[in-house]
Amino acid sequence: MVKIVIIGGSAGGASVATRARRLDESAQITMYERGPHVSFSNCALPYHLSETIANPNRLVLMTPEKFKNEYNIDAIVNHEVTEISAQDKKVTVKNVLTGEITIDDYDYLFLSPGASPVYPKTIKGLQQDNVYTLRNVPDVIKIHDDLIEKNAKHVAVIGGGFIGIEAAENLNKQGYHVTIIKRHHHLLDTVDDDIAQIIQKEMIDHNIDIVINDAPVEVMDKRVLLASGKMISADAVILAAGVKPDTKLAVQTGITLGVTGAIQVNQNYQTNLPNIYAVGDAIELKHAITQKPYNLSLAYPAQMQARGAVDRIYGRQIRNRGVIGSQCIPIFDLNVASTGLTEKQCQKEQIDYRSVLVIPKDKVAIMPQARPLYLKLIFGYPDGKILGAQAVGRSAVDKQIDIIATAIQYNGYVEDLQALELCYQPEFSTTKNAVNMAGLVATNILNGEYQQVSVTQVRDLVEKEAYIIDIRGRRQFAKGHIVNAINISMAEFRSHLDQVPKDRPVYLHCVTGKDSYNITRALVNLGYTNVYNISGSFSALCEYE
Ligand code: FAD
Repeated sequence: MVKIVIIGGSAGGASVATRARRLDESAQITMYERGPHVSFSNCALPYHLSETIANPNRLVLMTPEKFKNEYNIDAIVNHEVTEISAQDKKVTVKNVLTGEITIDDYDYLFLSPGASPVYPKTIKGLQQDNVYTLRNVPDVIKIHDDLIEKNAKHVAVIGGGFIGIEAAENLNKQGYHVTIIKRHHHLLDTVDDDIAQIIQKEMIDHNIDIVINDAPVEVMDKRVLLASGKMISADAVILAAGVKPDTKLAVQTGITLGVTGAIQVNQNYQTNLPNIYAVGDAIELKHAITQKPYNLSLAYPAQMQARGAVDRIYGRQIRNRGVIGSQCIPIFDLNVASTGLTEKQCQKEQIDYRSVLVIPKDKVAIMPQARPLYLKLIFGYPDGKILGAQAVGRSAVDKQIDIIATAIQYNGYVEDLQALELCYQPEFSTTKNAVNMAGLVATNILNGEYQQVSVTQVRDLVEKEAYIIDIRGRRQFAKGHIVNAINISMAEFRSHLDQVPKDRPVYLHCVTGKDSYNITRALVNLGYTNVYNISGSFSALCEYE
């Protein structure tokens, strides 16, 4: 009989336990969890703040009793593993309620201790009792109940990653005035600046205050002081400034850490110590695109690693391709999804890349509910290998991103995206799916059929007094336009070629970049060599419809 001990009873740990049971009916499986719950839904925690999930007990998916009755697994809550003796294959376990210490032994030990919140040393006052972190069910109950009890009105959220954004949105829905503070240039690091602008607008439109490029330096009574000297009203503070792999026990045991500071594992999730495996947020992964060490805190990878590690000890072959970080988040009425590398990551990795931004409608344009879908595709240059994608829209943009994520995992190129045969019906998408369109535009760029500039370069162009032609209709132009742009509508363009100079660069834009692309092509065919389409055009520049 194999004896399996698991440290941590949530995403990774519970998946280890149940996979082991599915492979071996005779194994003795014990899972220790220091908190009061096993197998809770970390991802749904923020929804208790808005009472979308009103009863917090619903966040707990499995109880120790269910684990015992349905899987014959000993899920032991309120028990922290405080020591591992790898030589004797034993663990020391402390009952956190009574202090009682017990010793257990194992044939195989699995670590899935997760990650812990980062407490930036640069911020004073984080030990105050109105500063909260959000990792588990007791955390969310405490935030929810304390805010009511203290009659809180203003909440500051430090950090603009997905936990911070979800906390901010759910608190806003519950009637709190929320300010989200991010020291970087934009919220949500998993997307680039152009996509983040759309997200931020959605949050501002829902009365969330966003402070960027400014860092909290001190949490004070009912206020947060920022580096700029600005004060933010805050009866409570949610600290969501990132997480770090929980490696305390691993370090203490002599388990090697990788260069990112997470637990180093081989491709079978085995640590440097015999019979000790590790999975989940605590481990260092390989990024499938850069092939470099990488940290990722996502639920499905944790579950997948758990399955892989258990399969391995039962002699099954596993294929560990690394991770690409596919993820999605709803933000009020928007859905946001991303996969692979962002532009910023490409720059950091010194990867030569190009990107395209297409903005078709999410249904056939004449359908009453049709809304813009922003899809950004990032690809290697000049090979066209797909590196990443980001999408925002009011429909299920995870479809586009999941398709591209699949293509990335099969080493796809942009030409592969244009050729994909995907479902179409007017209610579901445009005839050419946004993914096909992004593939087509990217292929055109690779083939040098036309030139483009990113919407993020427009400010520079204006400052340099570049020649920008807005080809929207006169009425749209009159409502608002780029400073100093001239207006020649698409319909009038061919009869106004005298206004298009040949001796200087010309930049064209329309609403989404599609019409201006057509005129760009026409000009190229007419012998203009210095013509650029502004990718994303006015929709990406200005506002979400
Ligand atoms: P965890 O699920 O965190 O479990 C680790 C457990 O180990 C903890 O319960 C901890 O108490 C226990 N533990 C640690 N040390 C010990 C010890 N010594 N003894 C006993 N027990 C110990 N991911 C997504 O993919 N999509 C989402 O939408 C999403 N939303 C999220 C929202 C929130 C608010 C949070 C906090 C996370 C979210 N995540 C999301 C991330 C996802 O939950 C994690 O990536 C995933 O749970 C990692 O699994 P894990 O097993 O490594 O760690």
